[in-house]
Amino acid sequence: MTSNELKVDFHCHSTISDGAVSPDEVVRRAKRNKVDVLALTDHDCVDGYERAKRVADEVGIRLVLAAEFSCYLGEEPSEKEIHVLSFFADDAFEGVREYCQRMMAWRQERVRSILRGLASKGFGVSEGDANAAVGDCPAPTRLHLKNFLRSRGLVREDTVWDHLGNHHEYVTQPPVTSRELFADIANLGGVTVWAHPYPNHFEKYAERLADEGLQGVEILNVAKSSLPGDVYQSFAVKRGLFTSCGSDWHGKPPDTIKGPLALSSSLCESLLERLGVL
Ligand SMILES: [Zn+2]
Ligand SMILES: [Zn+2]
Repeated sequence: MTSNELKVDFHCHSTISDGAVSPDEVVRRAKRNKVDVLALTDHDCVDGYERAKRVADEVGIRLVLAAEFSCYLGEEPSEKEIHVLSFFADDAFEGVREYCQRMMAWRQERVRSILRGLASKGFGVSEGDANAAVGDCPAPTRLHLKNFLRSRGLVREDTVWDHLGNHHEYVTQPPVTSRELFADIANLGGVTVWAHPYPNHFEKYAERLADEGLQGVEILNVAKSSLPGDVYQSFAVKRGLFTSCGSDWHGKPPDTIKGPLALSSSLCESLLERLGVL
């Protein structure tokens, strides 16, 4: 099969982090949408990989082992976090799963820390609400807290992120810097790709991140792309980086699409080669 015939989605989420449907169902929907190569990129967690892989093998989709990691830049608090997609060969699974433990622990603790912070600001919540907020999700995100606060009627939709932003001390930063993450993922044999680079971050940090060992840039993120793809593309060419693309599908409102998207593999050809898909 040549790459021209392949349809890919290298970025989507399941209930393992902040997506709406199970890993199995993400794969089924990808199949329905005619995706050939799929990466399930839950936040800091690969707990969905094995079950997604079983379904992928059944329905004939090539599933790539992946996750979307958080790391911090060590700059101003409001800009301290970026997301980095990481893609691996199948046999890296045990190592990656172990690596994720520290990240998942940080996510669980961040939920409790935010609840403590909100309690100290007079919100009617406590650390004990963590279970109600995240259920059995192994890698909870702030979306869980947003939904929890709204379901309790504690915040208005338009102000909820004022209480969950990175500028609050109680929103603890990820346990690794960008430089550390790039080295850790390289040691696991993986490829790092900067997810949805925001314009202000891109302008400020792109060169520095490439110097630190970043290996790729997401040139198309259907949910969050904000600069034209060719801006990212020319940077990738200049710095010899891989390019990637994905829907960043979560399946939650206001998301209107019904699953992972069949995107052209021309957007990520060298990545497919590096991962042994081509
Ligand atoms: Zn992200
Ligand atoms: Zn994402």
